[in-house]
Amino acid sequence: MQQKVLGATGLMVSEIGFGASPLGDEFRKTDPAEGVRAVHAAIDRGINFFDVSPYYGRKLAEERLGIALEGRRNKVVLATKCGRYDTSLFDFSAARLRASIDESLSRLRTDYVDLWQAHDVEFVDARQIVDEAIPAMREIQKQGKVRFIGITGLQLKMLRSIADQAPVDTFLSYCRYNLLMNDLDHLLTGFAKQRNIGLINASPLHMGLLTESGPPAWHPASPEVVDASRTIVKACEARGYKVGDVALRFCLDHPYAAITLVGMSTVQHVERNIAAVECRPPAELIAEIRQLAAPVANRWWPTGREENWDYGAGCDPGFASHAI
Ligand code: NAD
Repeated sequence: MQQKVLGATGLMVSEIGFGASPLGDEFRKTDPAEGVRAVHAAIDRGINFFDVSPYYGRKLAEERLGIALEGRRNKVVLATKCGRYDTSLFDFSAARLRASIDESLSRLRTDYVDLWQAHDVEFVDARQIVDEAIPAMREIQKQGKVRFIGITGLQLKMLRSIADQAPVDTFLSYCRYNLLMNDLDHLLTGFAKQRNIGLINASPLHMGLLTESGPPAWHPASPEVVDASRTIVKACEARGYKVGDVALRFCLDHPYAAITLVGMSTVQHVERNIAAVECRPPAELIAEIRQLAAPVANRWWPTGREENWDYGAGCDPGFASHAI
């Protein structure tokens, strides 16, 4: 497994990261023992970056990951988050963040995390992140409980604007660069590169849309995007490829993102995704996928406060922001 450097943090991270939200049963009910085996298999095969949050499974994913990492903590670069605790429960106050890190460390059975990220910042007032959350996170960093700090979210202009006012070490963006989307590069990649901010590209399978089994019921994409994804799955099958392999390989070729973060909870998916590194889809298949994706490419969905949306309050969420 190739390792890359995560911006100015200097952390060497595996190009495939283990997204632990499925361990919290976010997509479907999973077997905890199989989840532990998946984490161990990933470490044994060279995956060293693990990402979780107290939000995933409302603490369950952190608890399960903590169990799985016992005796292996020093082999991984461990990232968790703060500020989001339920679907509509956000608290980025300094007092909550101070308690949050201790709770996360206890569940993760460790005394530090490598990366601590403010989770889904578009749901609150940007000023609170700049004036309260990031200064509190930097204080906690000084105490040695976290090595680096970052911010995550779907709305990219807000990530950029926050980092411009209160510097951060990493960005985690999801569902903005994969076979269906590429506006990450229009809105954030250049800024991140210029400032040497580590870039994590999450959800290469578009949160399960680019898989044979399809998305979970809660997936926010429109029916048109879901239909287009099905045709892409079939186009891959017709040429003897698994869509997940093609989708992952596509993201791994991103010129700046250090980590492609994919959600996993089974040994089978770990092995499949590691094997996907060797996948070399023919140019004709990629061209066909681009054609199938074009009518729905870069369609987003509203998350968080309207004032934080990339394309402005009141704009049509079905609007394609850029041609792919
Ligand atoms: P994803 O695109 O990685 O898709 C995950 C889904 O695909 C799961 O159901 C998983 O079981 C399945 N899967 C994985 N490998 C597969 C394979 N080879 N074949 C078929 N199915 C496969 O979406 P995600 O899990 O949402 O994103 C990855 C990670 O990124 C998350 O686990 C989380 O750690 C992080 N993330 C963070 C944020 C945020 O901070 N706001 C948002 C989204 C994701």
